[in-house]
Amino acid sequence: MTATTDRPPTRPPGLELPDLEAADAREVVAWAMERFHPRIALACSFQKEESVLLDLIFSVRPDARVFALDTGLLFEETYDLWRQVEERYDTTIERWHGPTLAEQAARHGDRLWARDPSQCCAIRKVEPLRRGLADLDAWVTGIRRDQSPARAGAAKVEWDAQFGLVKVNPLADWSDQDVWRRVIADGLPYNPLHDRDFASIGCVPCTRPGQGREGRWAGSDKVECGLHLEDA
Ligand code: SF4
Repeated sequence: MTATTDRPPTRPPGLELPDLEAADAREVVAWAMERFHPRIALACSFQKEESVLLDLIFSVRPDARVFALDTGLLFEETYDLWRQVEERYDTTIERWHGPTLAEQAARHGDRLWARDPSQCCAIRKVEPLRRGLADLDAWVTGIRRDQSPARAGAAKVEWDAQFGLVKVNPLADWSDQDVWRRVIADGLPYNPLHDRDFASIGCVPCTRPGQGREGRWAGSDKVECGLHLEDA
């Protein structure tokens, strides 16, 4: 897909955001859809959190927008789940992507992820995300405060100064167990890699089984792909 606009990251003067910390996830989603649809979309990385959010968002608005960043390096299980989700909710997930792997290798050499994962994420995730957000006023994410120290301060509704739009985190106060309870109770489709001890699922070269986010970029000090920065 191609970008339509770009914009400065400054918060628009007069933009008032409600304090929805006492609201439950459905109430947060309902408020966000009412306020921003169709200029709002769920960023879907096919983690268990998105299994919950997809179900919530489509129950509120069957025509809700969802997008995913296709790095070209996702697990087959993730692509399978992508197809399942589209079928279950009768939707098409907007796909954003960077250069092909061959183009990246020609410009930066083979296996950039092994030598400079931050640059690889910037090319394959952050830049496509920036284009994906360009025609939105708000995005919905599955981040939870207990996932990492960098996410501990996330509010349910906040200004995203990194990308210049409103960020909605309906599951900010959910625990890992809360998410699993909802997935199981409602029989929601989820990534089967979670059953093989993958707590956080990203690209094949950078994801290992492990709890918390320790299974991502094993052996390096990288903990975030650049999509959700502290204080952003
Ligand atoms: Fe590249 Fe790894 Fe980031 Fe995927 S997670 S974009 S392979 S560095």
